[in-house]
Amino acid sequence: MDIEREVLDTDILIVGGGPAGLALAYHLATTVAADDSLDMPEVVVMEKASYVGGHALSGAVMDPRGLKELIPDYKDKGAPIEADVSGDSFYYLKENGSFKFPFMPPPLQNHGNQVVSLNKLCVWMAEQVEAAGIDVFAGLAGYDLLIEDGAVVGVQTVDLGLDKDGSQKPNFEPGSLIKAKVTILCEGVRGSLTRHAFERIPELCDGRIPQAYLTGVKEVWEVPGGRIKAGEVIHTVGWPQPSHEYGGGWIYGMSDTMVSVGYAVGLNTPDPTNDPHMKFQRYKTHPVVKKILDGGTMLHYGAKAIPDNGYYSVPKLYHDGLMLCGDSAGMLNPARLKGIHLAIKSGMMAAETLVDCIREGDFSISKLAGYQDRYDKSWVRDELYGTRNFHAGFDGGLWSGMFHGAVQMVTGGRGLFDRRPHREDHTYMLQKDEFKQRFGHEPDKKTVKLDNKFNHDKVTDVYKSGTMHEEHQPSHLVIADYDICNNRCTEEYGNPCQHFCPASVYNMVDDEDRPGRQKLELTPSNCVHCKTCDIADPYKIIRWVTPQGGEGPNYTNL
Ligand code: SF4
Repeated sequence: MDIEREVLDTDILIVGGGPAGLALAYHLATTVAADDSLDMPEVVVMEKASYVGGHALSGAVMDPRGLKELIPDYKDKGAPIEADVSGDSFYYLKENGSFKFPFMPPPLQNHGNQVVSLNKLCVWMAEQVEAAGIDVFAGLAGYDLLIEDGAVVGVQTVDLGLDKDGSQKPNFEPGSLIKAKVTILCEGVRGSLTRHAFERIPELCDGRIPQAYLTGVKEVWEVPGGRIKAGEVIHTVGWPQPSHEYGGGWIYGMSDTMVSVGYAVGLNTPDPTNDPHMKFQRYKTHPVVKKILDGGTMLHYGAKAIPDNGYYSVPKLYHDGLMLCGDSAGMLNPARLKGIHLAIKSGMMAAETLVDCIREGDFSISKLAGYQDRYDKSWVRDELYGTRNFHAGFDGGLWSGMFHGAVQMVTGGRGLFDRRPHREDHTYMLQKDEFKQRFGHEPDKKTVKLDNKFNHDKVTDVYKSGTMHEEHQPSHLVIADYDICNNRCTEEYGNPCQHFCPASVYNMVDDEDRPGRQKLELTPSNCVHCKTCDIADPYKIIRWVTPQGGEGPNYTNL
């Protein structure tokens, strides 16, 4: 059925109110305002969370370089910096012990950096954007990228008021078509519109190495005094991960009594039972971590995928009517575990390109190419180039990765090999039999008792993420073929979705129609929008699409 949709025209459409999109809006507004010869364009910033920052999640230790360029007096203006980094340490964890490295690898040295809550930073950045004259529309979710004659012309927003089966409820409101001269995708990691762009404009990814992802799982704890110092930064590798997996943990002192603790697991693992949430719960029981958290209270939870391959996975950054910024463009330094400063700078470079377009009254692709030129000459590109082979160096496991990382440091990022290929993460997952053949045992899905005081189950953690979804709407996890889930995947992989999802959205339950067999049951209302399932499903039959705007997690202090 054809649905009549309202068409809204604007000049510039920014999709996503994270650090990239907000930096873009702020830099555009302030640059235009400072030049009397320029007229302020119409700008729409859309953010799918119920408030700006509601879906923003990071560790986070921020390199302030980007924010300093954007707003030099950001401290005077009240930017929410939790603490300047006061000390760094790096541990290798074993199950029953630990080794503290006597030196910090240069990429992990954080002197001059700041511990922040990304979601609080986004709230503050949105206030600066609005004060500069640009409105940010929270609760507005993009459903489809509009492409006409090969050019991106805007976004269709999500229909509201559909029932689970897709039928229209009395409060049905069709999504609008927001048409713009330029659409800038700043959606964060694995954005659903960015995925549309990559699928429908293949040249964006021509010659690029597929992105490599981790899933990061995080809690914020209030702890008794004396456990950690404000600004103290601890990174760990090793336990509870086997050495063939990529990842590690962090503990950051947000204050003397507030701790960010988290664990990130590479999604190129061969293990079909990989469960980043359970690994994180086990991680907290290690003495290095437990002595900080014990007796404290968990306040907040969140999870998110992390784009981690860096330089060689950054796509072409523009197309006719389109630019890509921040995590949507994979701008994250994998060796430093940092992307906020790169996201901010990418938004600034996109804004400067748009100012050129406004000045010349020309928003054609040849003008948007100026964004790519700026990136190619920027410190963002140089920083990513300097760690271009970091993730690939860990393909052989932790120890060879540490070796390659050291060689890369003294060879300007090259290492022993350059541009080592990486397949899409899901292709590394082994079937149960293959895993047994390679490792000589079944996947050992180790667990820890979840008492919901120190170690939390997924549902309790989801509650602490503030996640809310209207139950009566179509599932935003679209499964192309349940028959594969309930039969083939059960036999071959053992339904990895029930493990890798950090929010208990995917559960295998008894199938009353097939005694002795199980079937997949979804609880989409638990989804914290981490995008892991969209990446890690081995059959590529799960697609994450946007639910109604204003839904999902409501992160605070994360
Ligand atoms: Fe993440 Fe997918 Fe689970 Fe949602 S359903 S929390 S996107 S893995």
